[in-house]
Amino acid sequence: MTFVVRSVEPQTEGAKAFLAKRRKQLFIGGAWVDAHGGDTFPTKDPATGVILAEIAKGGAADVDAAVAAARKAFDGGEWPSLTPMQRSRLLWTLADLIEANIDELAELETLDQGKPLYVGRWAEIPGAVNQFRYYAGLATAIEGRTIDSSINYQPAGKQVASWTLREPVGVVAAIVPWNSPLVLTAMKLAPALAAGCTVVLKPAEDTSLTAVRLAELVQQAGFPAGVLNLVTGLGGEAGAALAAHQDVDKVAFTGSTPTGRAILDAAKGNLKKVSLELGGKSPVVILPDADLDLAIPGAANAIFFNAGQVCVAGSRLYAHRSIYDRVVEGVAAQARGLQLGHGLDPSTHMGPLVSRKQADRVAGFVAGAAAAGAEVVTGGVQGGDEGTFVTPAVVARVTPDMAIVREEVFGPVVVVQAYDEIDEVVAAANDSEYGLAASIWTESLSHAHRLSRRIKAGTVWINCHSMYDNALPIGGVKASGWGRDSGQVALDGYLEWKTVCAVV
Ligand code: NAD
Repeated sequence: MTFVVRSVEPQTEGAKAFLAKRRKQLFIGGAWVDAHGGDTFPTKDPATGVILAEIAKGGAADVDAAVAAARKAFDGGEWPSLTPMQRSRLLWTLADLIEANIDELAELETLDQGKPLYVGRWAEIPGAVNQFRYYAGLATAIEGRTIDSSINYQPAGKQVASWTLREPVGVVAAIVPWNSPLVLTAMKLAPALAAGCTVVLKPAEDTSLTAVRLAELVQQAGFPAGVLNLVTGLGGEAGAALAAHQDVDKVAFTGSTPTGRAILDAAKGNLKKVSLELGGKSPVVILPDADLDLAIPGAANAIFFNAGQVCVAGSRLYAHRSIYDRVVEGVAAQARGLQLGHGLDPSTHMGPLVSRKQADRVAGFVAGAAAAGAEVVTGGVQGGDEGTFVTPAVVARVTPDMAIVREEVFGPVVVVQAYDEIDEVVAAANDSEYGLAASIWTESLSHAHRLSRRIKAGTVWINCHSMYDNALPIGGVKASGWGRDSGQVALDGYLEWKTVCAVV
């Protein structure tokens, strides 16, 4: 694949002004500060290789300062004295500010991550706004319970009364990946702040820009100093220091399964709480009675949206043998119809992958599968000026033991397999260390119900895929993680239960 990606300048005044400001600082205790030693690292437009900005390279000393600021804000000062309604208002104000700057934020996300503008503008940044509004509501709905206990210690004339309180967990370290930076950040930040926690945020090193802009908006919204602290930097430095920090009460992590394991190891020092939203290898199961006019574009979108850099991407496609050829042809035709280009170009359907490293990895999976005897029906070709593009790939004639079937590729690559019996496809769908999501395509309500119970996954979609909503819990079973983001259940993850038992 050889095509030249024309360099695209930011269009919005907001993005231009933000980049011109050259803010290469951390946000700690309500102030913008240089990283210790003044270190920075560049962040690039993955489509063109143009350096967009220098980012502050925080390390262990900066993490210490940020955690201390978060601790101070949690234990005293203004934040703990705010009522739930006041916290709610701040969250709502932040949502309004994100919405008011939505074009700028979408553009920054495209420049930094590569995604087509429509992905950020119409799906992810509105998703972030909705997260803050949803948890703004829930901030005022945190409730304990009264419990009629059976304690038989009853001094004369007294009664036993018991109840529970919900209290914020404390200082939260939010560590997020590069595929959907702002919305995944909002999924941690919004429930944590609604619960009354304070946060140290560590964005992914490839995509720090919108996190820096978000910290500016948090400041503008009027959150007290230290409630949100931002430490940009490398995973092995800032991230590892945060995960191991003795004064962090919880790590809320989204990222790869290997890093999730490293975070668990690091967290055991002070037994901090950990929630993990990890990798996936999500099956898409098309039954013989499916509406293929819906299922084929649905299966294509399940893997090619955001160039497959989606944790729940439908990367294993199972089609009943009676429709297998039509499905393979159909999904391959959809893949061939996708226009690759710079994310700010309005004709672009698919942008580059986030980095050369990621593109090499994705193309390597396809080449490895071909060498092992798989048929590359279409795609898998790496190119572009920076070698960061990979054409959307459909890979057939795979065997269940191949790396491309077992491992998370995290790119626009789907493997297609035929099946004959329902039991066979259930076994195949569950034959993965992951259990993040799945989709079932059928016109039979009965099949849909039964299969949704049998497939081991945190989310099962029926006749759709990747439908996110702030009210719907998202997360995985097996090696896809612990806990859930979104929904009421995510708020629980930032709250402790305190039992009070009184003789009154
Ligand atoms: P990653 O694990 O490499 O990095 C994620 C974050 O962890 C980054 O901020 C990184 O700097 C940091 N990090 C790296 N090493 C660390 C360490 N030793 N200690 C602490 N922090 C460290 O993941 P990625 O490549 O940025 O993102 C892709 C992965 O994220 C995929 O596996 C994808 O499935 C997963 N993901 C999961 C969900 C979900 O909801 N389950 C959502 C999106 C992405």
